[in-house]
Amino acid sequence: TIEDRARESDNYNNSFLVPADPVLDAALKNASDKGLPVDDGVSKAQGKFLYLLAKTLNAKRILEVGTLGGYSTIWLGRALPEDGELYTLEVSKEHAKVAEENLSVAGLSAKCKVIVGPAYNSMLDMKPEVPYDLIFIDADKPSNTKYFTEAKRLVRAGGVIIVDNVIQFPDHVEEILQALRNDKDLEAVTMGTIGEKGYDGFIYARKRSGS
Ligand code: SAM
Repeated sequence: TIEDRARESDNYNNSFLVPADPVLDAALKNASDKGLPVDDGVSKAQGKFLYLLAKTLNAKRILEVGTLGGYSTIWLGRALPEDGELYTLEVSKEHAKVAEENLSVAGLSAKCKVIVGPAYNSMLDMKPEVPYDLIFIDADKPSNTKYFTEAKRLVRAGGVIIVDNVIQFPDHVEEILQALRNDKDLEAVTMGTIGEKGYDGFIYARKRSGS
């Protein structure tokens, strides 16, 4: 099947480009041992993509919406310079606790902070004077539009917003697509991905420089 081919291809390419990583493997194991749905997180290749994107942007400030056990957080956090910072928003105390354990093992506790509570409220409290270079949206999908609207307010000119799972859950991206069609401040594309976790994709939106 196409899924088998995608899995094989991901494994093949990862065998060259995404080597085994004891810290990330331990993070997944810890999360899975504590009953977290680790399959809901990004794949290895997507994690490395987020890391590379953050590096390419020279990201110093990153916002993540939806933490789970901190797998994508570790990828993103590793891209930060010494004085960089990342905030990751998570409603579940249990998930946040596991993520904090995993970030500590990864040596990222100083740079990466988990903010516990409904992500939308946390975003509303944030001030745009300290904009983010990169915002990754991967929480409860029905709230995508609300998160995207706040992300647009909080991202710097030239910065990027990524929304995950937009092909798996198209109903929860239609409003974003409608808004993006006439948006003068953001330019965007949907990129389909097929890999070890099946068929999916993300919206990649860049805030225009000077907006
Ligand atoms: N980004 C993670 C990764 O790739 O490793 C996966 C995140 S998982 C898809 C979604 C997370 O969003 C879950 O941990 C869930 O508890 C959290 N979540 C759900 N509703 C939320 C809300 N209203 N505010 C903040 N987090 C929420």
